[in-house]
Amino acid sequence: MLNKYWLFTIDTEWDRRSKRKDLATENLTALPRLQALCDDEGVRPCYYTAYEAAISPVFESFATALLAEGKGEVGTHLHPWTTPPFSAQERDAPKATSFPNELPLVEFERKLEQLQTALVRRYGRQYSYRAGRFGFIPAHAEILSRLGYLSDSSVTPHLSWQGHSGLTANAGPDFRAYDANPFVWQSKEGELLELPLTIVRRYKPLSKVLRPWASHLSYRLGLGQFWLRPLPDNLIFLEDMVTAVARLGLPLANVMIHSNELNPTTNPYFNTPESVALLFEALQRLFKRLDQAGYKNVTPQEYAELSIKNASLPRRLASSLD
Ligand SMILES: [Zn+2]
Repeated sequence: MLNKYWLFTIDTEWDRRSKRKDLATENLTALPRLQALCDDEGVRPCYYTAYEAAISPVFESFATALLAEGKGEVGTHLHPWTTPPFSAQERDAPKATSFPNELPLVEFERKLEQLQTALVRRYGRQYSYRAGRFGFIPAHAEILSRLGYLSDSSVTPHLSWQGHSGLTANAGPDFRAYDANPFVWQSKEGELLELPLTIVRRYKPLSKVLRPWASHLSYRLGLGQFWLRPLPDNLIFLEDMVTAVARLGLPLANVMIHSNELNPTTNPYFNTPESVALLFEALQRLFKRLDQAGYKNVTPQEYAELSIKNASLPRRLASSLD
């Protein structure tokens, strides 16, 4: 039997409030509570870190201790709207939360380098990347490989973000042609492992026959299309989702949350202390269920080092190989 692994990935970033302040990161004070749960359960998370969090003294002292104790990884999370340098177009639209894939490639690379420099100076070499708003396109794989990254984790299988606006209308990427299995991007700069988010679609033929009640039922059971990402309406189904992921034989489960979901005043989903407490309880049950289902927790860097040479992983071309 193939080994099964799981990742706990946290987009570590700004406070998401209706009145926006780009560099406000009050939510980061909640990270020690999450890390204490991870330590208790033997889970080593990856904090994909945006520029505004990278430069926060609160995060710096938290992450320095985390890394010194070998309790997790710090990765890279590009929010173009908070990462210098800023183009004239960005300065003209200061409220726009741009998708990285909207930027000309040369601007994307410049921002990524600036973010990487800020992270490397404080937290050491960077191996693992996730785009802000999942704004990834295959051409980014070549740039990520050139800058020394081993993996990306931006592909959201079955979902399209094309209807969403960034700097321009209808700006998001389209991942409807992907599934949740890891694969390798090939470019002339090397190989980059893709770690898709765990979004699964199943029982499609069955739900066609049994509609409408079956699709409702499958949603309630977390068995239709589901995302292994805690949200208020799915907390009681997370363990069932792990069962489904294991039955499908997925070799990798990639669980994500946002740092701002840990603080009731900085996110729209878990907006009371009670709902944050329920999130923590659900995470603990989820961690235990993944362990019972035979999934071993690793960091994205470790997973990439274990598997990028695996010849049985599918390959996709990120660019023309010249
Ligand atoms: Zn983000």
